[in-house]
Amino acid sequence: MNATPFCRMLAGFALALTLFALPAAAQDGPAEAPSPQPGRWSIAIHGGAGTITREAMTPEKEAEYRAALDRGLAAGTAVLKSGGSALDAVTAVVVTMEDDPHFNAGRGAVFTWEGKNSLDAAIMDGRNRKAGAVAGLSRIRNPIKLARAVMEKGPHVFLIGAGAEQFARENGIEEVDPAWFYTQERWDQLQKLKAEKLTAYDVDHKYGTVGAVAVDSAGHVAAATSTGGLTGKRWDRVGDTPVIGAGTYADDRACAVSATGTGEFFIREGAAHEICARLRFTGESAQVAADTVMLETGEMGGDGGVIVVTPDGQAVYAFNTPGMYRGRANSDGLKEIAIYRDDGPGGLVPPRAVEPEPAAPVEPAPASAPKIEPKL
Ligand code: ASP
Repeated sequence: MNATPFCRMLAGFALALTLFALPAAAQDGPAEAPSPQPGRWSIAIHGGAGTITREAMTPEKEAEYRAALDRGLAAGTAVLKSGGSALDAVTAVVVTMEDDPHFNAGRGAVFTWEGKNSLDAAIMDGRNRKAGAVAGLSRIRNPIKLARAVMEKGPHVFLIGAGAEQFARENGIEEVDPAWFYTQERWDQLQKLKAEKLTAYDVDHKYGTVGAVAVDSAGHVAAATSTGGLTGKRWDRVGDTPVIGAGTYADDRACAVSATGTGEFFIREGAAHEICARLRFTGESAQVAADTVMLETGEMGGDGGVIVVTPDGQAVYAFNTPGMYRGRANSDGLKEIAIYRDDGPGGLVPPRAVEPEPAAPVEPAPASAPKIEPKL
């Protein structure tokens, strides 16, 4: 039977409606069906990478760090075990580690050249690639909570400084006196860096950013990262942590990534997005993609590492430094905390010899310095 002109018109109208609806769906809905594995979950965390060696560690310090990593991992594991989302799990890990002065995030963050704390964080939801990022905070107790509020409650992705803190106030995010972030050890590192004209790496021998990536039992991934940046940073420097695609990325079609290290190089590499892109377009494993991107980042001069989780439950680390504070757990019973290159997987061979990172602080010219007149 031939379709009547009216039927043809209706069909055409329906097709037009479908096509019209497509762009909206592509932005708001899940990008592609994940591969859920009912009841199965996986999580990986990090607390920074660097010259973390047995020789430089006392047994007491090592026990403290293992316990601190354990607390972070337990916070995320509890969420996933009870059927919670990857997003809630990575938030729980990072909040726990921000409150822990062992790490360079939240309380215990490093000091800027001016003797302040300036905090950055980002979070990303692999279901819809929504993201929230904040930088240059000095009063927000848990920057990751503010990043999440930016993602969930605001129209933007990235807020900085006073504006970000105003958004926090308007959305009920806890503020603290800046003294909350102070630790003697971090203050002493700044004084040493200034007195001896050292780099941030020289005074600490590690990058202490915290991060978590997870896949939940519905197959959704998420990533979260938080940092105080580099000791002695100046000029409102922001590293890779809050830059979506550099230090943090999550996409249900590929993976979730959180990085730590010399932020400038991770930004230039687009490291976190690059790993996810490799997974999508080459089909290689998470380990191969992470190793390749860390090798490339190292070739440019970058030091540090990444953690990666995929929707099918792979959870890997890759780092080119002598050690990385790290841990992972999954629904099959894996629970692992590792610090050194030789007490767990992830270390690239050979490790890159850690060289001073860029942005070594330069003493500002004294106020009495002669003025240089422009040549006319
Ligand atoms: N990646 C961070 C930054 O460059 C530092 C770190 O990992 O500790 O700000």
